[in-house]
Amino acid sequence: MQKVKVKNPIVEIDGDEMARVIWHMVKERLIEPLFDLDIKYFDLGIMKRDETEDRITVEAAMAIKEFGIGVKCATITPNAERVREYNLKEQWKSPNGTIRSILDGTVFRKPIIMKNIPPAVRNWKRPIIIGRHAYGDIYKSTEYVVERPGRAEIIFTPDDGDDRVVLEIHRFKDKGVVMGIHNIEGSIRNFALSCIDYALSERVDLWFGAKDTISKKYHGFFRDIFSEEVARARDRFEERGIKYRFLLIDDAVAQVIKSEGGMLWACMNYDGDVMSDMVASGFGSLGLMTSVLVSPDGKYEFEAAHGTIVRHYREYLKGRPTSTNPIASIFAWTGALKKRGELDNTPEVVRAAEDLEKAVIKTVEGGIMTKDLVPLSDPPVSKYASTEEFIEAVAGYLFKNNRDRQR
Ligand code: NAP
Ligand code: MG
Repeated sequence: MQKVKVKNPIVEIDGDEMARVIWHMVKERLIEPLFDLDIKYFDLGIMKRDETEDRITVEAAMAIKEFGIGVKCATITPNAERVREYNLKEQWKSPNGTIRSILDGTVFRKPIIMKNIPPAVRNWKRPIIIGRHAYGDIYKSTEYVVERPGRAEIIFTPDDGDDRVVLEIHRFKDKGVVMGIHNIEGSIRNFALSCIDYALSERVDLWFGAKDTISKKYHGFFRDIFSEEVARARDRFEERGIKYRFLLIDDAVAQVIKSEGGMLWACMNYDGDVMSDMVASGFGSLGLMTSVLVSPDGKYEFEAAHGTIVRHYREYLKGRPTSTNPIASIFAWTGALKKRGELDNTPEVVRAAEDLEKAVIKTVEGGIMTKDLVPLSDPPVSKYASTEEFIEAVAGYLFKNNRDRQR
């Protein structure tokens, strides 16, 4: 079969555990046979991060800055237990966090929808895309456990004067806990801009939810920036026939459940973290959720939304068969390839990536699927495919179709 030449490089970021196992299977069976690719490879497997004292993560992020398109496998974010398990020098930071802050990007999560995998919420018909602001709030906080009575304050000291601002948080009479969080106007504005661009390009309404009734200043700050940026883009919204809605976050949750989907839901950092997991399981399996990090200067990193799937990895290490869903990893590759083709102006690359996506969807709709999808399937199926069997079925479908076309 003739491979499709991809003009410019793609940055490939390798990862950990079961996600790494399926990553290599997908690459060998579905990507390399189809595409002639210039890959810039970075191994972010936990041992390599430990060996390089995490420099490899920064290098990978810089490479995405340079080449514009990256595709990433799930990686371990070490906690204390992981430090012991892998005998690490340090509890390295989340690689996704590091890459996100270098690119100052926004993460969008979008489910893959198939006819025979109906969502848990009956009325959901179209994807609900979640845009998560990926900077600040509790993810860049300073915390303090209060051990004795005293006063906690917010103090702001300007660089250019001595007019300090001191605000009381709480006067503790007993033990307690405090946290200081912040955000930055530029980052919120970039977030709003990325969301607006993504909503326009996907032709879906943009929703933004916050708790501005309670947090009049912090959440109100986000709300105002969104309104300003949306007002500036009003013509483009009208032209595309899409709308903007600001909602209280609890109302947004209720409305999203009642809707038929088809919107981009812009979320503050924590809401996005939590809600994306809820929406992902509502649409079926984490194995059907894709994720893309978009920077305001148009750099993209595609990945599966799930983690390293430890439980399956333990089975795999014991030599037992696994049934791990590789679809989100495949769509990470196709997302990267489609974007690469779009930026390089090579429609044949976009087409080939779309053919691969269709082969995946046709395989599942034909009743071949991994274990996670079986209980969701309507009509029901009686057996599930192993990880390898599923990938082979997709390959079989794809290469047969390609042969037929070339005939
Ligand atoms: P996880 O790896 O997403 O897995 C949680 C469970 O979801 C699995 O045990 C499995 O359920 C199911 N699942 C997830 N992906 C699946 C797939 N492709 N096919 C079939 N089932 C799938 O989350 P986790 O166990 O909380 O985290 C494991 C590690 O991943 C952690 O070290 C964490 O730091 C890391 N992580 C990385 C990223 C990232 O790099 N983007 C994201 C999240 C977590 P069953 O066991 O019931 O089959
Ligand atoms: Mg989460």
